[in-house]
Amino acid sequence: MPVKSVKDMDLTSKKVLVRVDFNVPIVNDKITDVTRITAAIPTIEYILKQKGATVILMSHLGRPKEGERKPEFSLAPVAQKLSELIGKKVIMAADCIGDAVEKLVKDSKPGDIILLENVRYYHEEEKNDPEFAKKLAKLGDVYVNDAFGTAHRAHASTEGITKFLPSAAGFLIEKEIEFLEPIVRNPKQPFVAVIGGAKVSSKIAVLESFLEKCSAMVISGGMSYTFLKAMGKKIGKSLLEEDYVDTAKKFLKTAADKKIEIIFPLDRVCAKEFKEDSEPIYVESDEVPGDLIGMDIGPKTIDAIKSCFATAKTIIWNGPVGVFEYKNFQKGTYAVAQMIANADAITVVGGGDSVSAMTEFGYADKVSHLSTGGGASLEYLEGKSLPGIVALEK
Ligand code: AMP
Repeated sequence: MPVKSVKDMDLTSKKVLVRVDFNVPIVNDKITDVTRITAAIPTIEYILKQKGATVILMSHLGRPKEGERKPEFSLAPVAQKLSELIGKKVIMAADCIGDAVEKLVKDSKPGDIILLENVRYYHEEEKNDPEFAKKLAKLGDVYVNDAFGTAHRAHASTEGITKFLPSAAGFLIEKEIEFLEPIVRNPKQPFVAVIGGAKVSSKIAVLESFLEKCSAMVISGGMSYTFLKAMGKKIGKSLLEEDYVDTAKKFLKTAADKKIEIIFPLDRVCAKEFKEDSEPIYVESDEVPGDLIGMDIGPKTIDAIKSCFATAKTIIWNGPVGVFEYKNFQKGTYAVAQMIANADAITVVGGGDSVSAMTEFGYADKVSHLSTGGGASLEYLEGKSLPGIVALEK
């Protein structure tokens, strides 16, 4: 069902409570990646353009334990960074609920931006406690959710609050739905999925759901070795999830029954040790000899992926095809990023590592959509309903 958009709301003279995802990495008091802050700006600016509107932002940061208010979990550095990026003062609140915050909001003027302190300072947030949600709701006249990354969790600031305020989606959530929904329902064919990364366990549900809709699938990265093991191949000392070998066997049988082409690495770059400076050893085989570790895909595999992309009309990529953090083993992931950037198809890249690879290699603006949601993207693609989104449906 379509969600209600921030554009469907009359925001004139309203205090607009916006749930954003400002869960940014902070090292030694410095924010090391501002992507999530920048991403929230279009929705904030849109609201500020509405006559008399005030923006009240709320977010979580990290995972503070109950009652723990350490400075490293404070959103204060984010207020400062947002202020620099948006070129406007951002008022940092000392808390996210309570009398002092209510007064701060009451005294605010149209055009002000207030950032509430970390909602996870209260364990009631993750428990989706209705009383806590009600206290948050007291701070706004309407609610906008623009935090796709937490939409798969029914928390007070993502789901509970919608019971107390008229609610709508911000532009980030709208864009995620715009690109992910057609993939779940009816992707433009041929649809090719490239799934990599470390673990079968975290991707098996999405792999299974893609079997229902894709014409070909590339399974690579560390998780491909559990599948190779299931096929009776030698995998050396490569990553293995022993508990998932049977699951992998079942998956392969379903794929064969459905006649879905699954491309596994045909050749690979291996290492003697899982280390940054390990010497890359090329192995022109679909097996890993001796006690080597499979670290990256090789040129034959890259060519196979290229042929598969040639006719694709939808491509989704989630999970690096090799240990791309190590320079000696990033050629495969680089090649996939480049092929996706040049593909004549709807291209969607999801998952933290694939998104950072796309950004690091300079291709972030060459894809139809970079899905920033991590777990939320995967659950959406599996076809699950995300509570934070269901709550915004018309
Ligand atoms: P995920 O979060 O499941 O998408 O996994 C991402 C991680 O998978 C990255 O840190 C990669 O280094 C890792 N990865 C990719 N290929 C391999 C491989 N062949 N062996 C071990 N880890 C890998």
